[in-house]
Amino acid sequence: MTAQLIDGKKVAAKIRQRVKLRIQESVAAGHNPPGLAVVLVGADPASQVYVRTKRKACAQTGIRSLEHDLPATTTEAELLALVDRLNQDDAVDGILVQLPLPPHMETSKVIERINPDKDVDGFHPYNVGRLAQRLPRLRPCTPYGVMELLEHYGVNVKGKHVVVVGASNIVGRPMTLELLLHGATVTVTHRFSTEVPEHVGRADIVIAAAGKAGLVRGEWIKPGAVVIDVGLSRGEDGMLHGDVEFAAAAERASMITPVPGGVGPMTVAMLMENTLQAADLRRNEPAMQRSDNVWTTFGQA
Ligand code: NAD
Repeated sequence: MTAQLIDGKKVAAKIRQRVKLRIQESVAAGHNPPGLAVVLVGADPASQVYVRTKRKACAQTGIRSLEHDLPATTTEAELLALVDRLNQDDAVDGILVQLPLPPHMETSKVIERINPDKDVDGFHPYNVGRLAQRLPRLRPCTPYGVMELLEHYGVNVKGKHVVVVGASNIVGRPMTLELLLHGATVTVTHRFSTEVPEHVGRADIVIAAAGKAGLVRGEWIKPGAVVIDVGLSRGEDGMLHGDVEFAAAAERASMITPVPGGVGPMTVAMLMENTLQAADLRRNEPAMQRSDNVWTTFGQA
């Protein structure tokens, strides 16, 4: 392997530590610690693991985790009523509804019910719209985490050609908006795209988020490119796999993220950061002003 390994665990630990210190300062100044309501509907095993990880990160950083585990039989109306209560609850700074929801619920309806100022996942159309208009507020955690990783490793995306594989609401689309905000030239590919290998082959930076193990072949990677693998799927071997054929890609890339231990821990760390930002926002404190003005640092693309 010739590529440098991008250590998401290490960077995520630093960000969690930064959040922890800021919370300690805020508490010392007389404020309550931020509160994050984590809502889980049903018993999907992968969701249970994600929720447990998020609650553990809350405990590590000093965020109060408020647990709402609901049975799979919960109606959409009951879930919306809970969101309404959490919107009103002064002890709640952030609301996270773990996805996917059971099939009898309309995901967009639930997300749109969350007060945008408490939308720490950054999925509400208001927050996505703010990002699209170069005025980011609460930013979707996974793309935000990818940007932090790149920055930490000194990868400046400005003027670079970045190819995003995947165009979902959760990863691909907001990733594209983040990259545009930071001045990259972006190509987005999706399930209807043709010539995906050729597009990837022209990329200075590849961000794979299709959820298809091994989709991005090592031989597609331009020598020296940076490879970020967001994909996470469990194979028949019971192991977690990324979207990138890791060993072969690592022979050509200059830097690459592992799976696991790359983007995953960053998503959780940015959720902690967003919860703190949401608490600051509700108190009208400077953290959000920094976020509001972030694009001016890069100049308008
Ligand atoms: P999704 O299924 O909603 O979207 C997948 C996207 O990939 C779609 O836009 C689809 O058109 C595209 N796609 C499918 N096949 C393709 C192909 N052959 N070529 C190009 N594009 C193709 O999935 P998602 O929610 O965006 O998640 C994507 C992956 O990222 C999953 O493996 C998920 O588990 C993982 N994920 C990881 C994290 C993390 O923190 N590491 C967070 C969120 C999602």
